[in-house]
Amino acid sequence: MSQEGYNVTPWEARGKIDYDKLIQEFGVERLSEPLLARINTLAGGLHPLLRRGFFFAHRDLSLVLDDYEAGRGFFLYTGRAPSKAPMHIAHIVPFIATRWLQHSFGVNTYIEIPDEEKFLAKKVDSLEEVEPYIRQDILNIAALGFDENKTFIFRDSEYIGKMYRPAVLVARHINLSTARAVFGFDNETSIGLIFYPALQIVPTLFENRRPLIPCGIDQDPYFRLQRDIAPRLNRYKTAELLSKLAWGLTGPESKMSASEPETAIMLNDPPEVVKKKIMNAFTGGRATVEEQRKLGGVPEVCTVFHWYSLLFEEDDKKLEERYWACKTGKLLCGECKAELVKRINHFLALHNEKVKDVEKKVSKYMYDGKLAQEMWNWEFRP
Ligand code: SF4
Repeated sequence: MSQEGYNVTPWEARGKIDYDKLIQEFGVERLSEPLLARINTLAGGLHPLLRRGFFFAHRDLSLVLDDYEAGRGFFLYTGRAPSKAPMHIAHIVPFIATRWLQHSFGVNTYIEIPDEEKFLAKKVDSLEEVEPYIRQDILNIAALGFDENKTFIFRDSEYIGKMYRPAVLVARHINLSTARAVFGFDNETSIGLIFYPALQIVPTLFENRRPLIPCGIDQDPYFRLQRDIAPRLNRYKTAELLSKLAWGLTGPESKMSASEPETAIMLNDPPEVVKKKIMNAFTGGRATVEEQRKLGGVPEVCTVFHWYSLLFEEDDKKLEERYWACKTGKLLCGECKAELVKRINHFLALHNEKVKDVEKKVSKYMYDGKLAQEMWNWEFRP
């Protein structure tokens, strides 16, 4: 969706995003206090990403909770398109929310690895280019703690035999004019990318229950199409839990991008690289220490504060204390950044240990865990 000063599609998000406007333009609902309170009751708590408003909008989330309460259940679906670079910390944010939902509600989770998407979108030059990153991406995702018997991680190129028939049924219902309007396809778009949304819709048909997709609001267009088609295939319309887009390190209008290393903390960055990147990150600090002491900083535009609030400060009270210490000039950026460096490096060290551990059991997620086995025998029956 292209508007004055910003552009949000599944392939590109840039500019200063007006989320209130996006709620109206995309026709989604705001994640209200009563709905959050209901999740809190049913899940026995609220993840910081929800209670701090990073997830801010939804489609049909109250119906998901109705289904859960009535015993019909629901399932989760998300994915990661491998690229020619490792994953960074912004990539794992939706997976952390998905894992929390899986644990809180005990539901099945499907994770698609569309290993053709970046090639079709002309972001890489060959299919081989992404190959070295696919296994690492899968390990990084599994290491976040998904239930090995309730999670199915699959590569499109491997699972296509099961997906092709339902994708054809989906594709038949999508006209080019609709796809063009939803995704902004033009005459340069490869015909592969035009078919690709059909494949991305298939996992929403895996179970005859309501799918819930936690994702960035930029991914919403895919699932708007799904919602038009699902009733014709006797399946539930997809519900969505939609997040804002995580900031890159170069400012609130930037996006973490693996191709611009200064914007992103990669999951395999060594400690000294993390330090360098955070020390150079865009902050809401003032030009001099004297000014900062006198006027205070501006945490609202600070990428360092943004990352504390997303992943690196779980305690709401401590986050608030940091906010006010910054605002009142008691906290200086050097100290604030140094602490974030410590926390990120601690997180990455732990995460990379978990990656090593998960290597031994990754086949559970892909082939021989309970859900994976079921899915290798799955047939779509509308
Ligand atoms: Fe950002 Fe911390 Fe500096 Fe405040 S003190 S502007 S939160 S880096």
